[in-house]
Amino acid sequence: MAAIEIDLYSDTTTRPTAAMRRAMAEAEVGNEQAHEDPTVNKLVEMAAELTGKEAAVFVPSGTMCNAIAYRVYCRQGDEVILDKTAHPIHAEAGGPAALSGAMLNTLDGIRGIFTGEQVEAAIRPYKRNRPRPKVVSVEQTSNSGGGSVWPLETLRGVSEAAHKHGLALHMDGARLMNAAVASGRKAREFTELCDSAWVDLSKGLGCPIGAVLCGSVDFIEEAWRWKHQFGGAMRQAGIIAAAGVYALENHVERLAEDHENARLLAQGLAQIPGIELDPPEIETNMVFFTVDGTGLTVQQLYDRLLAQGVRIGTGDGKRMRAVTHLDVTRAGIEKAVEAVRNAVAGRV
Ligand SMILES: *Cc1c(COP(=O)(O)O)cnc(C)c1O
Repeated sequence: MAAIEIDLYSDTTTRPTAAMRRAMAEAEVGNEQAHEDPTVNKLVEMAAELTGKEAAVFVPSGTMCNAIAYRVYCRQGDEVILDKTAHPIHAEAGGPAALSGAMLNTLDGIRGIFTGEQVEAAIRPYKRNRPRPKVVSVEQTSNSGGGSVWPLETLRGVSEAAHKHGLALHMDGARLMNAAVASGRKAREFTELCDSAWVDLSKGLGCPIGAVLCGSVDFIEEAWRWKHQFGGAMRQAGIIAAAGVYALENHVERLAEDHENARLLAQGLAQIPGIELDPPEIETNMVFFTVDGTGLTVQQLYDRLLAQGVRIGTGDGKRMRAVTHLDVTRAGIEKAVEAVRNAVAGRV
């Protein structure tokens, strides 16, 4: 197998840059769980400011942010309302059931995005024998939706519907900053409509680890309890928080390059016979496509690309998924398109 030269598998494949590593090496540190780590304290203040929330807590992963938030909102048998493609349903090892005992009530959104009317329709009138809906959960951007950005007005409708019925609104902000940059909005315009929201540092922002969960003082106080219980309370975590501080200061605006590269990739792929973009719109850093018309399976195309040093994920098995990030250049995108062209034409 050739070495992977251009890795479009995920925006989690980024490696810390030299400058980020320097910031990590030089970080001031202390005991995180006693709030004595100055770098963690700085990071959580930055994240709270970014999301317009009172408080924030540093957590090892986005998955743990979702787990903690659901645990704060739900007791066994309570219900989370979310899109059928949402990450906690497909990629968190059954966490909502295992850790919060939560029922999941799925909505049929378009590209991962649903409306306030759909939320209203999903909330059953109270009866003693029904699960109690507690939280609506949205994903900004929607991963399976193809990196789609929740429009502010749609999110407002969902927020109003949830709050009208006494439910909380939680945002999985794995790619919140991509949404902010692509829409030209401030992140807080979206998150101020939510009761809790988190930002992933280890996706497009390029950190090796970490996410920050934000909310009210009361919410974060409760979140700390579950962070301890789930084993996410840390010690000299400033070493990794420094990467987050560095990323929020230096890696946000550049996400526009990733979006431009994703569009370039999509344009190139769309010209290859048998490849269909699905969805056709490229809003942020993801490109999903089907390969049925090429006569190849997803796995065959994957193997033929790998043989040329290009990795593109096999996605959900029907669509391949390419994700741009800070370790992929424009020249890399051109090479990747060429590799797909070669693979489809059988020149591998
Ligand atoms: C990656 C991802 C997560 C989980 O984040 P980790 O930091 O990898 O645990 C949650 N939601 C979405 C939409 C994601 O893409």
